[in-house]
Amino acid sequence: MSVSEFEIINRYFASQTTAAENIILGIGDDAAVVSMPADKQLVVSVDTLISGVHFPVQTSPADIAWKALAVNLSDLAAMGASPAWFTLALSLPEVMHNWLAAFSESLADISSIYRIPLIGGDTTCGPLSITIQVAGCVPPGQALLRSGAKVGDQIFVSGSIGDAALGLHLLQQQSENLGETDYLSRDLIRRLNRPQPRIELGQALRGIASACIDISDGLFADLSHILKASAVGARLQQAKIPLSEAAQQFLIDNPLLRSGIYNRGDDYELCFCVAAEKCGQLDTIAKEQHCSLSHIGEIVSGDDLQLFDGQSNRLDYRHDSYDHFMNKHE
Ligand code: ADP
Ligand code: MG
Repeated sequence: MSVSEFEIINRYFASQTTAAENIILGIGDDAAVVSMPADKQLVVSVDTLISGVHFPVQTSPADIAWKALAVNLSDLAAMGASPAWFTLALSLPEVMHNWLAAFSESLADISSIYRIPLIGGDTTCGPLSITIQVAGCVPPGQALLRSGAKVGDQIFVSGSIGDAALGLHLLQQQSENLGETDYLSRDLIRRLNRPQPRIELGQALRGIASACIDISDGLFADLSHILKASAVGARLQQAKIPLSEAAQQFLIDNPLLRSGIYNRGDDYELCFCVAAEKCGQLDTIAKEQHCSLSHIGEIVSGDDLQLFDGQSNRLDYRHDSYDHFMNKHE
């Protein structure tokens, strides 16, 4: 797509390199040039979104752009990093001007909301896929890792769990022709398409959380990553796992979906552990962040995740988060 490639870059992306102190040279040369504050460590992550795998094929270009950057920002949030810049590798089956206009506008919106400029990328012709690489900064040694959880730490989760999974279920049921009044379903689908990365919360948890992860593959699967990396186990109280009003309403009519929502991803909330003596600081953080922080369990010795019903009865749960290579819920 040689001629159009440059037209696409100039028309839709070149203007998105905004002036920032650390961006010496943005889009337009063979590579970008950035500077790093001497007293910071660089945090880098990359995620690819493929049509039909990471988002339903009918997803709007504005939602795709939002989600592609949001899921990457969520990884920075989970590390406690502040956003610095990002690059975009876009593979498009053909030049679609309406699609590109909506995509680039939405990308500019989320990039300005989270103050993270686009500094470069690559544009190719192929099946629709979007790869975004983000970079952020943390004070030395203060990145939030998966590996720091200790026996006795308390486990928390931000916001609510399961909305995006229910939103996806709604879309898969072909319920997109929702009535005007079905605002609950709209809320759930919006959680799927417009995740809100917990960037400021992640930074506020530096020095407080002993371990942190963002929930992209489902609460149980992602918490299990913390357990493995930290060589500990966990006791979770299912009744304390926070559900939104929309999810609670939806589950009243669809009770069979309840057990699955903890194994489905796309929540982009933070799950983190805090030593008992630091838990008192979370109330202030929750208020400052306008974000609920729910206490859902505690770290114990062992290596497994035990689920209880809120009393002392142990529950079975299915550990079946999505695996891309198995291409199924295992
Ligand atoms: P090269 O052939 O040297 O790799 P390209 O033609 O791929 O250069 O890119 C030219 C410039 O445009 C580079 O600065 C690159 O980072 C930028 N660029 C290309 N595609 C995109 C895109 N989708 N979004 C943002 N910047 C892009
Ligand atoms: Mg290139």
